[in-house]
Amino acid sequence: MQTSSRRNVLITGSNKGIGYSIVETLLAGEKSYDIIATARNTKLGEEAVSTLTKKYPKSTSTLTFHQLDVNDDKSIADLAQWVKTKYGKLDALVNNAAIASWNTNDEEKKNIIKTNFLSVYKLTEKFTPLLSDDGKIINVSSGLGVLDVQAPTLKKALEDEKLTEQKVLDIANNILEYIKDYPGKPVPEGSYPASKALLNTYATKFLINKLKKTQQIYTVCPGLCGTDLNGLTPTKEGEEPSPFGAVRTAEKGAETPVYLINLPFEKNEELNAKFFRDLEIISYQA
Ligand code: NAP
Repeated sequence: MQTSSRRNVLITGSNKGIGYSIVETLLAGEKSYDIIATARNTKLGEEAVSTLTKKYPKSTSTLTFHQLDVNDDKSIADLAQWVKTKYGKLDALVNNAAIASWNTNDEEKKNIIKTNFLSVYKLTEKFTPLLSDDGKIINVSSGLGVLDVQAPTLKKALEDEKLTEQKVLDIANNILEYIKDYPGKPVPEGSYPASKALLNTYATKFLINKLKKTQQIYTVCPGLCGTDLNGLTPTKEGEEPSPFGAVRTAEKGAETPVYLINLPFEKNEELNAKFFRDLEIISYQA
């Protein structure tokens, strides 16, 4: 097992987009970490790590790649074993990997729930026992995960006082029943908003109670960024914004996740379990 005074940080989906920018910002930053970049496609992940390693030869952080497909239980188990053997613990888990599509068919809607929530649930449950006593989990969610924009049936189910963790999983497994009345706003019909609402609910109502009192959890919305997720390109100065508003770069989207990674590892009750955008606390409701 490697003995290092550096904290280690694992980022899912780091071959491109915001995940890549999180890795790059950490590598370029003043704090030293053992960064574990992961991707489902080994070739793409290794290429990303090779590019960044060459770009930041003087970085005081280390950067290592490991394969991870969040939808593959064996891939999750292999990575957890590798982290345990190499480091003995994990200091920060950044759940960033996700997919999105709009106007989708039922299979695609279910696949979005699987990738963005059910698989993140499994991965988080697998890694929580490895989390160091003052470790942190950061979920890259979305402003579309707030309760007020969900389908009324889903919103009511998630706000039920008798909600249990099992019920959250049952809702996810039967998502089509729960989004039948999705109004199609602010994004067209789809299960992406639901996937993030499920993630937020699981994290803040159930995961939080399984963590040690000294461990932390954060939710973050990176803001609207031009990435492959939505096919948008960042709005240039003087250019008309997209119909959804001004589009930022992935680097800008990485700022708040990196801020949360860089927060002291001592728990701060005022910040813990909160939802952040642009370094500030926002509401889970609206
Ligand atoms: P992106 O450019 O499409 O990157 C998504 C990353 O997730 C890619 O590395 C992708 O890998 C990976 N991924 C997808 N399925 C995976 C799987 N089964 N296993 C492992 N990795 C998988 O998207 P992004 O915009 O950077 O999104 C990053 C996070 O920000 C997501 O959680 C997203 O919901 C959130 N977010 C984005 C925006 C935005 O405007 N872009 C706004 C709010 C929230 P492949 O290259 O193999 O597909």
